[in-house]
Amino acid sequence: MTCPHCAASISEKEERCPYCDSYIEHMIPKVSPPVQNRQLLNQGEDKTELLLIILSFIIPMAGIILGAIQLSTGKAKSGKIYLVLGIISFFVLPCSFSVLPIMFSLLFNMKA
Ligand SMILES: [Zn+2]
Repeated sequence: MTCPHCAASISEKEERCPYCDSYIEHMIPKVSPPVQNRQLLNQGEDKTELLLIILSFIIPMAGIILGAIQLSTGKAKSGKIYLVLGIISFFVLPCSFSVLPIMFSLLFNMKA
C-alpha cells in the first residue's frame, strides 16, 4: 500500500509510515456484519407481516384475532392495521357474496 501522506510504498501491516512518521488509517469495512443480519431479519418480518395482512383481509376473524394478539403484545401500530382490515373485510365479504347472485340473476334476465 501507499502512504496517504507522502505516497511512499510501505508495508500493509505498518501502523506508522517509516518515511513521514504519520499514522496510517487502515481500511475499515463500512457495513459491519451485525447490521446486515439485522436488515435481513427485518426483511423477513416484513414478508410475514404482508402475508398476515393478506390473511386478515381474506379471513376477517383471523385479522381480528391477530389484531388483538398484536395489541396485547404491545405492537399497537400493526395490531390496529389487522383489526381494521379484519373489520373491513368482515363487512365487505358478505356484501360481495350477496351481490354476486344478484349480478348473475341480472345477467340471466338480460339474456331472457
Ligand atoms: Zn508517509
